Amino acid sequence: MTDAAIVTGAANGIGRATVDLFRERYDLVVGVDVDDTIIEVADAFDDIEGYIADVRDQERVAEIVSETEEDADITAVVNNAAISRSVWIGDLGPEEWQEVIDVNLTGQYNLIHTTGPHMYERGHGAVVNVSSGAGKRGSASGGVHYSASKAGVFGLTKGLAKQLSPAVRVNCVVPGLMDTSLTTDSGLWTENEIESFTDRVPLERLGAPCEAAELITFLCSERASYVTGAVIDVDGGASLI
Ligand code: NAD
Repeated sequence: MTDAAIVTGAANGIGRATVDLFRERYDLVVGVDVDDTIIEVADAFDDIEGYIADVRDQERVAEIVSETEEDADITAVVNNAAISRSVWIGDLGPEEWQEVIDVNLTGQYNLIHTTGPHMYERGHGAVVNVSSGAGKRGSASGGVHYSASKAGVFGLTKGLAKQLSPAVRVNCVVPGLMDTSLTTDSGLWTENEIESFTDRVPLERLGAPCEAAELITFLCSERASYVTGAVIDVDGGASLI
């Protein structure tokens, strides 16, 4: 049986960089995204399967997993898809609150709910959940719903690391400010804000998507065979400021 990895939010940024690195390691890489450019990403290579899907849609996620598992064993799961919007708490209505929690936290549950038991029964696998420094320290610009959803990812990771052990390792990657559309095109950060932030970060720059993808790839690999329940920053030292 061939082995497969599944990555959400795979059309752009960190997810796309992860798909690129995963191609060297897995027979099949499945990318899931609401952005239809995921199809272009997949069409460029035989070993990438792209699905336009919303991680909030549990039935669709389950369909993708069972379609994939017809030909391959999923051995790596990367929960990366997320949204972030800048909203003042007084203007943050219940629908918008729920949308961000649903994409960023329930979306991760949806994929693990369908893949975790298979990996557990087969006796091996790895999950990486992508959180954010906002979940640790809070973020005013990203909205408190974003911070809350990303804090939830820590609990989800640690609970799962215990529940799925010893078969499946579950870890969490915490990017700092990265050079992706979430930072540069979302309106969350002005150019001046980015510059004044990177001036204070020890490594004095934004992170590249591939730098987060490298850590994700390591955590999914056998080289990380004694790492589970870990929360690891890839933030140029931003957590020190
Ligand atoms: P990005 O916007 O480039 O990529 C996110 C991807 O998720 C996009 O392709 C988007 O279409 C997809 N997506 C959004 N909603 C979806 C849904 N409902 N279903 C399926 N796909 C969906 O952003 P990125 O910076 O690459 O973010 C990747 C991860 O890194 C996210 O979890 C984000 O919270 C986290 N993160 C990013 C930064 C940063 O500075 N960029 C900082 C901390 C954490």
